[in-house]
Amino acid sequence: MTTSATQDRITEVRLSSVTLPLAVPVSDAKVLTGRQRPMTEVAMLFAEVNTAAGHEGVGFGYSKRAGGPGQFAHAREIAPVLLGEDPSDIAKIWDKLVWAGASVGRSGLSVQAIAAFDIALWDLKAKRAGLPLAKLLGAHRDSVRCYNTSGGFLHAPIEQVLDNAEAAVERGIGGIKLKVGHPDGATDLARVTAVREKLGEVALMVDANQQWDRPTARRMCRALDQLGLVWIEEPLDAYDADGHAALVSTFDTAIATGEMLVSAAEHAELIRAGGADIVQPDAPRIGGITPFLKVMALADHHNLQLAPHFAMEIHVHLAAAYPREPWVEHFEWLDPLFDEHLEIADGRMHLSPRPGLGVTISDQARAWTVAEHRERA
Ligand SMILES: [Mg+2]
Repeated sequence: MTTSATQDRITEVRLSSVTLPLAVPVSDAKVLTGRQRPMTEVAMLFAEVNTAAGHEGVGFGYSKRAGGPGQFAHAREIAPVLLGEDPSDIAKIWDKLVWAGASVGRSGLSVQAIAAFDIALWDLKAKRAGLPLAKLLGAHRDSVRCYNTSGGFLHAPIEQVLDNAEAAVERGIGGIKLKVGHPDGATDLARVTAVREKLGEVALMVDANQQWDRPTARRMCRALDQLGLVWIEEPLDAYDADGHAALVSTFDTAIATGEMLVSAAEHAELIRAGGADIVQPDAPRIGGITPFLKVMALADHHNLQLAPHFAMEIHVHLAAAYPREPWVEHFEWLDPLFDEHLEIADGRMHLSPRPGLGVTISDQARAWTVAEHRERA
């Protein structure tokens, strides 16, 4: 007699579209070049998965500016695929979800809708094992170096950036990233120098958000190379892998990019081209933890460093499981969405002993919910 290896079944999926307001409109170099407007909110997509045996998982993805309603609509359409599946079979479910939407492709919005489910299934698996997600994956460390981004945007005058940077270091954050990309490069250099003078030998990074052309990027990298930065981020368009590769081979400061790529396949192309010293995948943006693990394996095989983009609540676990000492990006923006918050001390973000991602959706997030959908077996 044969027995089934399957232990459980997915019985219910709940999707929530949540609009997270930002305290002040946020600008990076894309606003200065007129390509985007200041950002005022983040569209969150939550997926909650429940099983016959009583297990549950929570996952989330997001969209900045346009795309949130589209992600929700696609997720809602493919949600029935999950019902009746064994929640442990995450790779199989990811494939089924991507094939359900194959007509709209295997990257971008279609896989971003899958990401919320995929992350919920990993959360569920780790919770059922009674382990933090990093431990389920196999951690290399219990804490990860972290740096703050939210205090260094371009809408903030330098006095405010200096106050924000000082406050971040005082609360135990290990590095400060400054947005650059002013029309006058001297303004960028002056802001970086001011933070260096105020904070001394703290780890500093800069981020041009893709807004330099190749000559400007060369000129700015040459000047920035003297300042001892940890990395220069997105000096060029996200899809200019060859241009990034030339900067990688010309300058001493590490070149970081990859946050805007929307599939594991695009990261494979970037890595193949030698376009980064530090890869910056974003699990919600590339389709979840399942494709992120592929990017991690490829990046490690190519001796690259890892600094995942945004969503620190997810990425602290993934970074903890990366062989080479990574960095996690600190934003406080998502704090109101969850009841629990990451512990930060001594320049590092610490894994909590809570199982799974270690977060539960807050009442505030429920109050900000603008659309909901339930699918039941
Ligand atoms: Mg960036």
